[in-house]
Amino acid sequence: MMPTSIECPDLEVLFTELESGEHGPAMEHAKLCPLCTAIIEEHRLLEKDLYRLADPLPPPDLVHKVMARVASEPAPVRRELWTGLSILGISLLAGLGVLITNDTALSGAGTGLARFLVDGKAFVEALLSGAHALWHTAAGPVAGLLAALLFSTLFGIKRLAGNGPTPSEA
Ligand SMILES: [Zn+2]
Repeated sequence: MMPTSIECPDLEVLFTELESGEHGPAMEHAKLCPLCTAIIEEHRLLEKDLYRLADPLPPPDLVHKVMARVASEPAPVRRELWTGLSILGISLLAGLGVLITNDTALSGAGTGLARFLVDGKAFVEALLSGAHALWHTAAGPVAGLLAALLFSTLFGIKRLAGNGPTPSEA
């Protein structure tokens, strides 16, 4: 290739002259060439970005500064910590109390319900087996009586399950 004054210099040469600050032919050319001026400007911006990236590195005494700041105001921090811990402890105790109360109440209700269901089932089964035996031995005339007994028993269980007196009882 034939070097002319119009031709842009090699970028390496241009940047070497730029970094060293010497104003050689490459920089002389760049002053007059918009293309090279744009390249140099881009290079400068890139360099600035690189410096900016390297800049926010924490100073070596950052930890020391932070520790000093924490040590300079220990009372409010400690008070806040204790307040927070107290609130947390009270909340936990209250929650635990509610949990225990609810659990006891629930387990008590569950036991009562289970006992009621077991007793009721056993009672109905006994009644049905007895009715079955009666049905076979004493024949049909007792059917009406048994039905009435069964229905009254079922009604009684239903009333118990309703957990309160029925209006008819009052
Ligand atoms: Zn150029």
